[in-house]
Amino acid sequence: MQIITAIEDMQALSSRLLSEKKNIGLVPTMGALHEGHLGLVRRSKDENDFTVVSIFVNPSQFGPNEDFNEYPRDTEGDLDKLSPCKVDAVFIPGADEMYPEGFSTSINIGNIGTILCGASRPGHFNGVATVVAKLFNIVMPGRAYFGQKDFQQTVVIGKLVRELDFGVDIVVCPTVRGPDGLAMSSRNGYLSDEERKAAPILYKALKFGEELIVSNGIVNAVLIKEEMRKLIHTEPLAAADYVEIVTLGRLEGVEKIELPVAICIAVKIGKTRLIDNIVVEKKQVEDVR
Ligand code: AMP
Repeated sequence: MQIITAIEDMQALSSRLLSEKKNIGLVPTMGALHEGHLGLVRRSKDENDFTVVSIFVNPSQFGPNEDFNEYPRDTEGDLDKLSPCKVDAVFIPGADEMYPEGFSTSINIGNIGTILCGASRPGHFNGVATVVAKLFNIVMPGRAYFGQKDFQQTVVIGKLVRELDFGVDIVVCPTVRGPDGLAMSSRNGYLSDEERKAAPILYKALKFGEELIVSNGIVNAVLIKEEMRKLIHTEPLAAADYVEIVTLGRLEGVEKIELPVAICIAVKIGKTRLIDNIVVEKKQVEDVR
């Protein structure tokens, strides 16, 4: 497993691979790796000749009052997890390598980046789009792998690739969850024991919303969102940031449910903000009838 820290070295390696007609798969991460990340890695290994995992805690996607300094960093542990997966190369640039003195370019992804998570994290998705664009230019992958866990991020990246003609296939992989339904996240490590017990309320609320649509046939989105909020707030440590039901492509809020839709939520458990979502498909309703 090659460890690469310089942009120049990564580009030289990728250029060589492309000249040998090798397919490159890229899995961008911020490290503190868990099974959710490893699912993306395995998929890339299956589908490409050469898999690159990037580890970069991207400062430009954190707001001034967010957890950039506290964000978990464990490069040794990450490499120990990647090595048995037979990852070909790990790209770990420093912040000065990615954003040298005087760096000022930023991609503005537009309104899609100001709704849902973007409303409480201004600038976050522009930071994500900018770093992913850089990673695409550095690693030159044919495919890049993202988790459905960050649903809005997948839509933002899809738009980035289409509108700036990156020619990278975006592969969205299912959310990996613990046995109690909690989506794996590097931020779960912030939770106290008591908060960890409360955190599965996110998945419970999503499944409840899904049930109201699929089994109860409710089409009034306002009602479903209200019921989900009520359920979330039965958990004293939980405070809903948003509960939204949106279209898949543009993330537009719907009033009347017409499937497919995504139910997207952000909930604070104590001080930790967690996000999760599920997609409800037309087929699920047809299967019930
Ligand atoms: P992060 O390191 O949190 O920026 O995540 C890197 C990639 O892993 C993103 O595409 C995430 O959506 C994905 N990811 C994180 N958690 C999960 C999970 N529980 N299941 C699937 N993908 C995930």
